[in-house]
Amino acid sequence: MSPPLAIHGGQPVREGGWPVWPIPAPGALNALNEVLHSGRWSISGPYRGQASFDRRFAESFAQYHDVPHCVPAASGTASLMMALEACGVGAGDEVITPALSWVASASTILGVNAIPVFADVDPHTLCIDPDSVERLISPATKAIVVVHLYSGVADMERLTRIAERASIKLIEDCAQSHGAQYKSRKVGTFGHVGAFSMHHTKVLTCGEGGATITSDAELARRLQCLRADGRRYAADAPRRGYSELIETGEPMGSNRALSEFQSALLIEQLALLDGQNETRRRNAALLDRYMAEIGIQTQQSAPGTTLRTYSSYVATFPEERLKGADIAAVGEALSAELGMLVRPVYPPIYANRLYQPRSRRRFALGGDYPARIDAEQFALPVANDIARRSVAFHHAALLGPGSDMADVATAFERVIKQVADIRSHQP
Ligand SMILES: *Cc1c(COP(=O)(O)O)cnc(C)c1O
Repeated sequence: MSPPLAIHGGQPVREGGWPVWPIPAPGALNALNEVLHSGRWSISGPYRGQASFDRRFAESFAQYHDVPHCVPAASGTASLMMALEACGVGAGDEVITPALSWVASASTILGVNAIPVFADVDPHTLCIDPDSVERLISPATKAIVVVHLYSGVADMERLTRIAERASIKLIEDCAQSHGAQYKSRKVGTFGHVGAFSMHHTKVLTCGEGGATITSDAELARRLQCLRADGRRYAADAPRRGYSELIETGEPMGSNRALSEFQSALLIEQLALLDGQNETRRRNAALLDRYMAEIGIQTQQSAPGTTLRTYSSYVATFPEERLKGADIAAVGEALSAELGMLVRPVYPPIYANRLYQPRSRRRFALGGDYPARIDAEQFALPVANDIARRSVAFHHAALLGPGSDMADVATAFERVIKQVADIRSHQP
């Protein structure tokens, strides 16, 4: 007889005690203090004799990726919208994006008055399926936004070829893949622009933040103007007390700048990224072996991935093990066993209650726009199936000792054995 599950009043596998995220870098406090007393809290504040922290972080992040340009921004959302507009995407253009992703993948496309066209995902990597992308390309397609989701890298070899052949832009959403490598090159460097989020939940964070990277000087110039009201850095340092930015309006922009506090923090946090990614990778590999032993599938990354990173760990239950149980209830049972949140993966976009373009007047653009942005029109069988059978938990849980992985596996084993009870206990 198995002991009762924690959701049924039994003893949980553990009550918590998981690593807390974010982890401040050793130099974080000094860096913040330096900004505090610097007389400059924003890139548009006066030059005080040294480059802005924004510029210094941009240099480190570009160097980290071995590309010449980085333009930091206020969020991942801002970075994606800047990337789209820098690539010339605008009113009425179609942009292909995966159906299985955070809602920002869709809302940022709407945000530049373009049309999100939802591609299905690959059942093993959970990332955008190149076959689905090919079927969706039309004369109106201007760009593809690839998302390297959870711990998977998308099939960049095929996707870059598809974009090249169609002469459209390729943008990589790396909000969940800082530091991952494909064919020994960092993700974000394969597309025309790589966009990152440094939100609290991500593996590199300053609370709220983002960045774009590119190898194209012209795109970099446009990205700068788009994030700072049409202003960009001058080639030479100004006199003290003057602005480091020059006003060009090429193109017009909006203020989406990162504050100096956030940039200073990111410089410090970046130094921890590779080490933390390594710890997560080691624990995830251990957990993959436990999961295989109990017959639970885990997320793959596209062939060609040379360094994997984990923004979340995803487990997919085979149909016959799930026995029709509701995945949200399974997630709750797992959360109760482990004292941490284990949740279903993102719903496919048409089922996401956060995708509601009709709730905002700004998207009431007339003509056939409302019909073209209706997510219900897309057939997404794989995204739908994966979402029904998969759960995910945050990368922080992969930062502790290897024994933590045994606890995770024990909880999954316990829950899967009693999955029939979960179904019967559903309200
Ligand atoms: C977090 C995230 C974003 C948005 O980033 P914010 O910083 O929250 O604006 C976009 N795409 C994906 C895949 C994300 O995970």
